[in-house]
Amino acid sequence: MNKEVAFITGSAQGIGEAIALRLVKDGFAVAIADLNLELAEKVAQSINDDGGEAEAFKVDVSDREGVRKAIEEAAEKLGDFNVLVNNAGIAPTTPIDTITPDMFDKVYHINVASCIWGMQAATAVFKSKGHGGKIINATSQAGVVGNANLMLYSSTKFAIRGLTQVAAKDLAKDGITANAYAPGIVKTPMMMDIAHQVAVNAGKDDEWGMSTFSKDITLGRLSEASDVANAVAFLSGHDSDYMTGQTLIVDGGMQFQ
Ligand code: NAD
Repeated sequence: MNKEVAFITGSAQGIGEAIALRLVKDGFAVAIADLNLELAEKVAQSINDDGGEAEAFKVDVSDREGVRKAIEEAAEKLGDFNVLVNNAGIAPTTPIDTITPDMFDKVYHINVASCIWGMQAATAVFKSKGHGGKIINATSQAGVVGNANLMLYSSTKFAIRGLTQVAAKDLAKDGITANAYAPGIVKTPMMMDIAHQVAVNAGKDDEWGMSTFSKDITLGRLSEASDVANAVAFLSGHDSDYMTGQTLIVDGGMQFQ
């Protein structure tokens, strides 16, 4: 039997990398799709060295044609492609008065259009293989509650919850489910950058910036990328077959939002 295959965007580091490592443990072959090919190749290499199966792809998720080609190639090379994780995203700090049309286009193309391009390409492959599949999109706690100074990021993450629900309805007839995961504050390069900005604005150091994030977390600690990967593994596997259109919140209980 062909191995199940997951195509994971933004998987050269952070949450995406943790998802790839976890899905390999669950028996998936994984496509490490990222803008940063060098890092993606390192992740793929280390998975292959450990006896798993991975292939790196250079992909800009905002490029519809590039996403389609990479997904088709991964499906061809790796096996039975049935899981797409639209994980890549960017989170620039954007107080309202600083936002320009170019910034708007960039953040919406990378965070939102990417999910649509990925879903289009994956759906076409699932249908051509005559089976269903699972689409899993990265939203955020900031897509559940508006976050200060993150007008663009937060609003794209609200959009992702919406497009996940629409996809669930549109694709159910093809045996495809669509769900989202909403991390809270995860220790990744993205969150380190945000903590740095917060610290610079307050005239403090990065450690202080990071520590300000833990005060609203019921479980009293920041999230590891593996905490999120565990939830995505559930959404990728058959135990979640009867779930669609949902957002799984994995935020350690941030004010129970
Ligand atoms: P990260 O910045 O640490 O890693 C993101 C990865 O995506 C990088 O490898 C980067 O090269 C890649 N990437 C960026 N732009 C790309 C593009 N245009 N095309 C392809 N790849 C691209 O981020 P992370 O913290 O691991 O976040 C992953 C996802 O989880 C994002 O969608 C983010 O919004 C979401 N999220 C993160 C947190 C957190 O606390 N870190 C919280 C909530 C949601």
